[in-house]
Amino acid sequence: MRDLAVELAALRAAGLYRAPRTVDSAQGPVIASGGREWLNFCSNDYLGLAADARIAQALATAAARRGCGSGAAHLVCGHSAEHAALEEELAAFTGRPRALLFSTGYLANLGVLAALAGRGDSVLEDRLNHASLLDGGRLSGARLSRYAHADAEALEAKLAVAGGERIVVTDGVFSMDGDVAPLPALADACRRHAAWLVVDDAHGFGALGPQGRGSLALHGLDAEAVPVVIGTLGKAFGTSGAFVAGSAELIEYLIQKARPYIYTTASSPALAAATRASLRIVQAEDWRRARLAALIARFRAGAEQLGFGAQLLPSTTPIQPIVIGTAEDALAAAQRLADRGIWVTAIRPPTVPAGSARLRVTLSAAHTDAQLDRLLDALAAALPAPA
Ligand SMILES: *Cc1c(COP(=O)(O)O)cnc(C)c1O
Repeated sequence: MRDLAVELAALRAAGLYRAPRTVDSAQGPVIASGGREWLNFCSNDYLGLAADARIAQALATAAARRGCGSGAAHLVCGHSAEHAALEEELAAFTGRPRALLFSTGYLANLGVLAALAGRGDSVLEDRLNHASLLDGGRLSGARLSRYAHADAEALEAKLAVAGGERIVVTDGVFSMDGDVAPLPALADACRRHAAWLVVDDAHGFGALGPQGRGSLALHGLDAEAVPVVIGTLGKAFGTSGAFVAGSAELIEYLIQKARPYIYTTASSPALAAATRASLRIVQAEDWRRARLAALIARFRAGAEQLGFGAQLLPSTTPIQPIVIGTAEDALAAAQRLADRGIWVTAIRPPTVPAGSARLRVTLSAAHTDAQLDRLLDALAAALPAPA
């Protein structure tokens, strides 16, 4: 039998051991954990909505009226009027005819890829795609190949020799690097090769584009250019869940074929009501995105001034990683920040390629300038002096 203790010890020795820490407060720029307060620079709560009182109230009101549990999967009797209304509103938000809710983004990605691709087909993925997209590609049974990061020419070379139905898959905003995919070039390549383009905009929806319409809106890409769009609700929207948007045929097909849609309990109807409240706020409060843009500029200027600009990645989004190198060094840097009351996670392999372990700093519209400056001061003290 496999010796789990030995494997765990090996992970610990390599600086790759992971453990969740328990949070004793609501999400926000300051959170409580382990009996003290922390300045939080690692959540995906980009717009500061995870603990918004209006959204919490919508959840409470809907729970009082409809209860907590959905009771069953969507195709049994778990599809409530709140789910239906949210799907219509997400379709309008994305400018697509229909949208379909999934319980999480991970499940949406498994469901979409395993439904659209099968044996004999080709799934082509950016090398830095989110793990759930890679897992979906594997689950589909199609031939999975990965093209060089954000490289439309490398994709085109692979498309030219790929067999079967071709499905190209990319993050809209890369979750560990923060850069935006070259979507117009990818869409052109897909059009030339009659391939599907699937964009997972988990970190774009809410945070980018007018009214938070995401990285596709940023580039003005329509349903013809990008037939399959995936969004998640646990990041900028501040709730949880995910959706796929596209044509009526796509959604009907997924309802028949996507097993992670069919064989799982529908999320709480109260959660759908909360997300409906969030969607209204996301669209109405452009000031949150303006505030984020100001914080991103302040962070990058401050980092340059402190001399670690070269370790920043070319990101214009609230994901602002600082590349450190080895897993051990990234962990040590995160620990030195923790010693100063700042919570930033060290992202290590296999989440990122070996040698590029990093501090994944994320910004939220709820951060103040003073809090950001505290982060910069702590980084100046915690990071090894730039070479
Ligand atoms: C977070 C994330 C997911 C997973 O979404 P969940 O709703 O958290 O399961 C999928 N894709 C990308 C790019 C993500 O960053």
